[in-house]
Amino acid sequence: MPDAKAREVHPGVFLLHLPLPMKPTIVNVYLVRGTAAERKDAEWALVDTGIGSSDSIATLKECLGIVGCEPRQIRKIVVTHHHPDHFGSAGPYKELTGADVYVHPAEWQRSQNFMPTDRPQWVMDWFAAHGLPLERFGRIPKQQDFWQGLYKPAEPDCELEDGLRIPVGERTLEAVWTPGHASGHCVIYLREQRLMIAGDHLLPRITPHVGFSPATTGNPLGDFIASQRKIQALDVDLVLPAHGGVFEDHIKRSNQIIQHHHVRLEQILDILRRGPRNGYEIARRAFDFDQDSPVTYQFPATFETLAHVEYLRHEGKVTSSETSDGRILYGVA
Ligand SMILES: [Zn+2]
Ligand SMILES: [Zn+2]
Repeated sequence: MPDAKAREVHPGVFLLHLPLPMKPTIVNVYLVRGTAAERKDAEWALVDTGIGSSDSIATLKECLGIVGCEPRQIRKIVVTHHHPDHFGSAGPYKELTGADVYVHPAEWQRSQNFMPTDRPQWVMDWFAAHGLPLERFGRIPKQQDFWQGLYKPAEPDCELEDGLRIPVGERTLEAVWTPGHASGHCVIYLREQRLMIAGDHLLPRITPHVGFSPATTGNPLGDFIASQRKIQALDVDLVLPAHGGVFEDHIKRSNQIIQHHHVRLEQILDILRRGPRNGYEIARRAFDFDQDSPVTYQFPATFETLAHVEYLRHEGKVTSSETSDGRILYGVA
């Protein structure tokens, strides 16, 4: 070392760059050695896994060689959330290492329905109710189109829950439940080292996606903003994110992300002051796209918009009503 694929960001804590087949093109996973100083018999933990591609798995194995960690020394695999870039190769790594896998129960449950074989009618009805012009799209992409053969999660051995302390040699990984980007998302906090492995909760350059989709209930954006405030209370010197470089001043970045959502909320209220609209119509204006934009953009933009609208509805600033043909319209309260 130094090596482009594996970098020691704190004594005994290594950032590994693993490849992804789409943007963002890299996911960072982290190897934590149970001791600050190098020791042959040290116990290790892996936080997040990358996807289950042969390319990604080969890269991880190469990184283990670079940092001097035998696969069998990894005793714990801790997963921040169920998305393929974080949980997609837990299966092969559990087999390779014999480690215990830690995942929040909500994330394990989501991983089980991540690639359903068919799309139920109620989901199609939900899309239509929120105004997505399904007849114009032709075929609607499925998760399988992107992740077939690349998503190999593992059944958890231990439930990750808020406040759980996981010993790794002389060190402790602490789970902090941060719902929002995913309902069971957890960041991993190394209190003594003042490090936060942030998963997709806090990213340096992009704002994490927060969506209200058919699989969602409640108020995910409300949860997300509360989870931002929750991590602001932690003492952190260095944030270790899943995408982008490590950074300091987590409070500043967290406030920027909260601010981004408040601007979006105001923008959506302005759109609704001009008249009631369905989720898709609001999204087209808020995210400035048209019906010919890539479908893979239109769906997440609509989900992200709905997360904001639902937030405003929970705040009492927006109401929803159903039209005679089953469409859901939002308006200012
Ligand atoms: Zn994610
Ligand atoms: Zn991610």
